[in-house]
Amino acid sequence: MLKTTDIYIDLGTANTLIYGSRKGFLLNEPSILAINTKSRGSGLGPNSIFALGRSAKPMVGKTPSHLQVVRPLRQGVISDFDSTTKMLHAFIRRMKENVFWFRPRMIISLPCKVTQFEKRAVEEVGYALGARTVHLLDEPIAAAVGAGLPILSSRGQMIVDIGGGTTEIAILSLGGIVTSCAVRTGGDNVDDAIVEKLRSSFQFVVGTPTAERIKMELGNALEDDFGAVPSRLAVGGINLITGLPGRMSVESSAIFPAIDGVVRQIILAIQKALEQCPPEIAGDIAQDGIVLAGGGALLKGLPQRISRDIGLPVTVAKDPLFSVAFGGAKLLEDHRLFEGIERPA
Ligand code: ADP
Ligand code: MG
Repeated sequence: MLKTTDIYIDLGTANTLIYGSRKGFLLNEPSILAINTKSRGSGLGPNSIFALGRSAKPMVGKTPSHLQVVRPLRQGVISDFDSTTKMLHAFIRRMKENVFWFRPRMIISLPCKVTQFEKRAVEEVGYALGARTVHLLDEPIAAAVGAGLPILSSRGQMIVDIGGGTTEIAILSLGGIVTSCAVRTGGDNVDDAIVEKLRSSFQFVVGTPTAERIKMELGNALEDDFGAVPSRLAVGGINLITGLPGRMSVESSAIFPAIDGVVRQIILAIQKALEQCPPEIAGDIAQDGIVLAGGGALLKGLPQRISRDIGLPVTVAKDPLFSVAFGGAKLLEDHRLFEGIERPA
């Protein structure tokens, strides 16, 4: 049995990661649960969890009427407090089969633009999970640490974390946030836009998991660089003209407009944050550029597109899906670094 004293939780809209001090990552699962809503005859109680995380993800868009797939953080914050707590409880119950802790110190990272009410809700989740103390951490700071930026230095840095349902943009200096900006759009909105595009232009309906696969294989943020991705992909769905199941060969150029809409929103938000940037820091960023983190940063052509439209150098953090979690883990272990950063009130 592994023993740990401190726990860090990266509660993402798409993925939840949990790290135990000196033990490493204990969990990395999609933030999804399937709930059984049928009260009788199922052998399970009403509203019990039918599937969790990785095993619930393939059920998206496929559930019979007595099952409901829930993504409690879809909009980036705790819109569904009960389901969030339920999901974390279930993750932790499963982890506790192999790991032991007792009243841990807990750090939970969350988007920096959330309300006081949402912050209290996240803290409450931590205490409900048995924490002795709960510290909140701003996600962009975690992302910057995880991306290896020297965040305590007086040199200004800019980090853009593109998650599933949110994009957070922050300009940092001396361990704190100088200015930040968040938009409730991210990689999952690209999936939704692809669904909509196929429906309106081709009268063909696919589920969001298929749309995500299309995005990963054919998606490109640059309109003139289709050589970088395969030109087409055959997928299954419903042909709205016949009303019957069918297959369609999706072309990468056909889904570009769907991707472009979300990319433009992200670029506008980056411009907005840059407009609020003090001149001395702007000088640093003009030289060092922007660092992208989060799974959304894996969209092909995205760093080149942002760089072209904004006119600044853009790089992607190593393992962007892990940037926030790596940073949170580092801050959990390094007490001095944790004391040096600004934290949410
Ligand atoms: P969050 O922090 O909100 O949980 P993540 O940083 O885990 O989000 O990123 C999840 C998003 O990244 C999803 O929308 C997912 O589809 C997207 N994503 C993951 N891998 C890729 C890829 N190879 N190409 C494009 N998008 C990707
Ligand atoms: Mg994240």
